[in-house]
Amino acid sequence: MIYKNYSLIVIGSSHASQTLIDSFLEKNKKSKILVLEGGSDQETEMNRKLTENTSYGSHDSNYWQNHWVRAYGGTSRKWEGWIGTLEREDFEKNNFRGGWDIDYDSMLPHYKKAYEYYSDETKSYKYEKNLEYFSNHIKFKPIKITKAKRFTDSNKFEKNKQITLEKESNVIKFLTKNRKIISGIEVFKNGKTDIIPIQPEQKIVLAAGSLGNAQILLQPSSTSDIAIGNESGLVGKNLMDHFQTMPSADIIFDEKILKHSVPMDNFYNCFTLSKDLKIENELLNFQASIQQINQTEHMQKSFLDEISLLSAQWNKKLSLGLIHSRGEILPQLHNCIKLTNEKNWVGQNKFRVEFSYSSKDLMSSLNSHRKFGELLVKNKIGMIKIRNDDIFRRSFGTGHIMGTTKLGKNREDSVCDVNLKHHNYDNLYLLGSSVFPTSGVINPTLTIAALADRLAQRLNGIGQS
Ligand SMILES: Cc1cc2nc3c(=O)[nH]c(=O)nc-3n(C[C@H](O)[C@H](O)[C@H](O)COP(=O)(O)OP(=O)(O)OC[C@H]3O[C@@H](n4cnc5c(N)ncnc54)[C@H](O)[C@@H]3O)c2cc1C
Repeated sequence: MIYKNYSLIVIGSSHASQTLIDSFLEKNKKSKILVLEGGSDQETEMNRKLTENTSYGSHDSNYWQNHWVRAYGGTSRKWEGWIGTLEREDFEKNNFRGGWDIDYDSMLPHYKKAYEYYSDETKSYKYEKNLEYFSNHIKFKPIKITKAKRFTDSNKFEKNKQITLEKESNVIKFLTKNRKIISGIEVFKNGKTDIIPIQPEQKIVLAAGSLGNAQILLQPSSTSDIAIGNESGLVGKNLMDHFQTMPSADIIFDEKILKHSVPMDNFYNCFTLSKDLKIENELLNFQASIQQINQTEHMQKSFLDEISLLSAQWNKKLSLGLIHSRGEILPQLHNCIKLTNEKNWVGQNKFRVEFSYSSKDLMSSLNSHRKFGELLVKNKIGMIKIRNDDIFRRSFGTGHIMGTTKLGKNREDSVCDVNLKHHNYDNLYLLGSSVFPTSGVINPTLTIAALADRLAQRLNGIGQS
């Protein structure tokens, strides 16, 4: 095969790659694109072995394996189709966590495009721009429930003459001669290892998932102690996942005021706290959803007396519910993936995940519930009773794997720049939730897609930051 004809080489074929390629080709009717996908059209046992890992901390190894799919379409084969934008303040630095070095307003056109692409309508996007406040500090942040696009039809790529899709082509690592340009890609295909030579003007986009991007960039180099791609020493670090607690509190509430307390118009109801309150109390993002219930049998017994007392005191009928919550976690260096000495069947070093939710993450959720509860009472909207034990002992992950190759302006504390170009390599770009410097609390897919659209523009020479 003549590789030098490809101007763009994309590793991975998940929704991130597909969004990138669609946007790239809109403005580029001539370029040829090579897609290297490790999996095939279906998940296979052999390919599942490539996601095997050892795990220490909050999750076992199955958890990571089940949330990272090696097949055409990647993890979008599993996602449920809930989408939402991150919030403006998620992009901003504050006194207890970093920001994105990307301004929220500049992301909006890309979010709009992603919304159209993923949900076939823009009403929800417009809605998100006008968040409703119920008090000065509680706002309604909708999550759109869409019919999940699976991105699993490889015909789409195969019948496009500008694209060559190579399935069952597992990238092992990159090669370089000068630590400035990637000069080759080591690939396992058809039972053997091959080197794809890369010219300086050819651009590579690595979109193999948070675990996959790190695994490739951490592979040992045969000529140096420093892996090709890990010159910063930061690859694999700042691994993140949202956590959820179901239920995390009982609630009695005035349904007329908390009017979105039942899922409406394909939105999942979701309440968050204002930026001011979060900053003042050093709270990470938190999201509370109310499930209305008719009977008290699922509620904590000690709460039942308060219901009648409060209804009498406020002279209004109150509804019953359970709160299901999600929390953001702080990016931390010790939450990471590292390589082991054992190799998988394509000749790549396997990896170990070290990851735990910290007391800061869980305390932030607890304190957010407290603030949320205080505001409800103050505004005579409702009252909650927190389930401490559930927050601290029974919270679990969402499978939203993020971090490991974070973006940032400062090359001392990030792996790629704000245009998603690797700080050290002029022809290597990173894509997917691996570049998230913070996670916010909203499902990641829409932000991944918006970043893909943004990167497509950059690759077409539009809008460098
Ligand atoms: C059960 C579940 C439900 C979810 N629900 C939602 C939801 O409702 N909303 C939401 O926003 N998010 C959801 N997510 C999260 C979302 O699916 C992921 O965040 C997203 O798919 C990650 O995209 P990615 O492109 O970064 O990686 P991936 O989708 O993992 O893509 C990686 C691609 O790279 C390929 N690859 C990997 N390694 C190599 C290699 N060495 N060589 C070549 N190719 C390689 C893979 O085969 C794959 O095609 C859910 C996830 C799970 C597991």
